[in-house]
Amino acid sequence: MGKDRMKKQFGSLPPKYNFSLNPYPEVRFSKCPDCQNKTGQRKLPLLIHVDPKNLIALNYTNRYCHRCDMLIGHKDEIEHHLTDLFLKINPKIIGNNYLVFGTVEKKAWRDNIDHPRPFDEMLQHIHDFKSYQNIRMTMAGWFPKGQIPPVVEPPPSTEWLKK
Ligand SMILES: [Zn+2]
Repeated sequence: MGKDRMKKQFGSLPPKYNFSLNPYPEVRFSKCPDCQNKTGQRKLPLLIHVDPKNLIALNYTNRYCHRCDMLIGHKDEIEHHLTDLFLKINPKIIGNNYLVFGTVEKKAWRDNIDHPRPFDEMLQHIHDFKSYQNIRMTMAGWFPKGQIPPVVEPPPSTEWLKK
């Protein structure tokens, strides 16, 4: 079992932060969706794997709930940054599946921009997330007794699309 966990973890540092991806552009979560506490902001390099073989560190201002130790990333913003980036380096990648799965230590991230480090060395500065969830909201309003409020279907991506 120990071995299994080792295999799944990518970065060498202990897992940090619970991460939630918010697919609703009109919702910005100034309150935490889990505990209703007021959220702050935390700018951190997010580590994103984009199929088939691209690893991106995106310096991004997340929403952050102290109480839940939870970062919230807005899907439309992240996809906007990814689209900008891949337009420059490889437009064919735009629209591929991706996964936000960890953070890079700020200092290492900054140093790497000036002096790119070998991949193995960067792993020493990576925290995987403790957990990952896609935020889904249920519809507001009154429903007949016993009926579970339906989930609000998130809108499709507008920029991160195959051309
Ligand atoms: Zn919270």
